[in-house]
Amino acid sequence: MRFDVFTLFPDYFAGPLSTSILKRAREANLIQVELHDMRDVTDDKWRVADDAPFGGGAGMVLKAEVVAKSLENVLNFDVGVSAPPCPIVYLTPQGRTLNQNLVEELASHSHLALLCGHYEGIDERVIDAIEPIEVSMGDFVLTGGEGAAAILIEAVSRFVPGVLGNENSASGDSFATGLLEAPHYTRPSVWRNRAIPETLLSGHHANIEDWRLEQALTRTLDRRPDLLPAWSERELSKRQRKVWERVQRQADQKSEAPEKTDIGEFEDEPGFNSLG
Ligand code: SAM
Repeated sequence: MRFDVFTLFPDYFAGPLSTSILKRAREANLIQVELHDMRDVTDDKWRVADDAPFGGGAGMVLKAEVVAKSLENVLNFDVGVSAPPCPIVYLTPQGRTLNQNLVEELASHSHLALLCGHYEGIDERVIDAIEPIEVSMGDFVLTGGEGAAAILIEAVSRFVPGVLGNENSASGDSFATGLLEAPHYTRPSVWRNRAIPETLLSGHHANIEDWRLEQALTRTLDRRPDLLPAWSERELSKRQRKVWERVQRQADQKSEAPEKTDIGEFEDEPGFNSLG
């Protein structure tokens, strides 16, 4: 998988690309990340890539020609005339919010170009001409697209065969199954008086699997109920359906149970005087 990153700040990527999984994936040539400094196409002494916005206002805007020339030189196409050789992703808070489906969609390509804005953003005319896939990290504003591009490279690379070592290690992750993942524990089995759930010590694989599914469902119901309709419409095994029904029953019982008031919590305690 190849990523061509267009940025004014290539140094930003030094850390993320030379650490942990991305470092190993690059060394094994499973992914290639080429950084392109968009200032390289400027022809003035100061390598100016931005200018003040028409109409006034704060901040600077990345020039359309700088962006277009950078893309054309590297990707070998004519902006607005011919098609680029790969999808161009523009990182912007105004794009489609990145989620696992979009990550998988992007991972189905063998080559992506990532365009990082900075300052107030990029002259809209070049965005109109290249018609990129616009991707956002969420409803907040970053200083530049570099952090967003680094996140996207990492999330997409996890789907490149071989990058995670164990091919299955992404398959149980949150979202991959359609649910949030169950909690994890490691040694010691008792830590500061907190023991791990007994089922995990039982060695009974089917029960452990059921326990994990129950935890995943309970968490998802609690934290991300919006994910559940799609999951429950899947073809479920008998066991999965049984666990799902149990989780739903428990949730119903919980919602029907009378809420404890503050007074209710303390009235059995010695010395409690309900009249104050
Ligand atoms: N003025 C722009 C707006 O309000 O939509 C924000 C510009 S932001 C300060 C500069 C650059 O950071 C953007 O061009 C984009 O590349 C990147 N950026 C900021 N927030 C982002 C987000 N949530 N997701 C992806 N990229 C983001």
